[in-house]
Amino acid sequence: MNVLLLGSGGREHALAWKIAASPLLTRLWCAPGNAGIAREAECVALDIADHAAVIDFCKRNAVDLVVVGPETPLAAGIVDDLASAGIRAFGPSQQAAQLEASKGFTKALCSEFGIPTGAYGRFTNAADALAYVRTKGAPIVVKADGLAAGKGVVVAKTLREAEEAIAKMFDGAFGAAGAEVVIEEFLAGREISFFALSDGDTAIPLASAQDHKRAFDHDQGPNTGGMGAYSPTPLVTGEIHAEIMAKIIVPTVHGMKARGTPFRGVLYAGVMLTPDGPKLFEYNVRFGDPECQVLMLRMMSDIVPALLACCDGQLKNFDLRWFDEPALTVVMAAKGYPGDYAKGTRIEGLDEAAKVEGVEIFHAGTIAKDGNILANGGRVLNICATGKTVTEAQRRAYQAVDRIQWPEGFCRRDIGWQAVERERGL
Ligand code: AMP
Repeated sequence: MNVLLLGSGGREHALAWKIAASPLLTRLWCAPGNAGIAREAECVALDIADHAAVIDFCKRNAVDLVVVGPETPLAAGIVDDLASAGIRAFGPSQQAAQLEASKGFTKALCSEFGIPTGAYGRFTNAADALAYVRTKGAPIVVKADGLAAGKGVVVAKTLREAEEAIAKMFDGAFGAAGAEVVIEEFLAGREISFFALSDGDTAIPLASAQDHKRAFDHDQGPNTGGMGAYSPTPLVTGEIHAEIMAKIIVPTVHGMKARGTPFRGVLYAGVMLTPDGPKLFEYNVRFGDPECQVLMLRMMSDIVPALLACCDGQLKNFDLRWFDEPALTVVMAAKGYPGDYAKGTRIEGLDEAAKVEGVEIFHAGTIAKDGNILANGGRVLNICATGKTVTEAQRRAYQAVDRIQWPEGFCRRDIGWQAVERERGL
């Protein structure tokens, strides 16, 4: 099979690594890719926002399957355009990608199909939104409806913060993404990520994971795209797993089908484990980054047949096997991230780091130049490790981190702390 992967982050490096291991593979390309992906795939300088150019590449190279990594091309309808050209693609249609591209859409689906989520209101003007938060009080969550690169959510501790967020969003801080605002009940509890594949009809769970959103140790500092992750999370017991499937994932897949917009691809549910049971607070319609990196390390089965089964409606009799060993990833980012940061700084010691037992390094924002690896983004590397326990995986990952010489980079030193404390019996 000839496969084209779209994207350029750590998620795509992990996917490329896993797809490259498939015995079904003939050729793998990645557009645009990065310096690490170039080890697994042929990187091509295609503009993935230019759907006609992607289709043309697929036709010229007899691509059998396109795998879409990030959400932007999904929301822009790339899977629909590829399908119209007769090209199979893993990922939801533009209509189904609304689950991520519109928070109001997802809340309405939850109401229609009885999926547990926080109480909410949808607003297209500041006056009504302000009146609503004043009746509800704080804490409360203010969300831009559309895609805002992970920045469109404000968890307001005070009424004043909520009012400011509303004013900012209707002032155009997020452009069209903030033309509608969703205001949601604050859900107290532990947060987990839950992943499932869907072929439009059947859903099969992947594994659970936990990410670390804040920039600094002890969950301090600004929110980021994710500074590390591990899988599985001990918070998702067998019982909670079954409850999330039965009350959230399955009704979503059935609801989308009943509406005539079946969801095919990977559903990534942000779930709060509240005293009243698991509640959905958001959907993403692609693999999480960095959660994907740990899921790929734990997946024993060949991923390519699973991706094909999603596209072809064949998940019903499908089974995925997983390694029991936990996996953990530490993100190394350029100093200053998630704010301003420098590009072009040199990274050394990667080969030595990769020699640590159980370690796999996935690249995110890197570029190769004159035989050197240079930082080329905010999140730059994923130092991943497996181990018999999360504690062992964590130790191995940081041992590898310590072999990397990159003075302009930083990472958190406490990834996996919840699981490590649990393993210590704390
Ligand atoms: P998002 O950008 O949608 O991933 O949201 C960012 C973060 O806001 C999430 O990771 C949650 O920690 C938090 N969040 C979102 N919705 C709620 C909610 N209803 N209650 C509490 N926290 C929330």
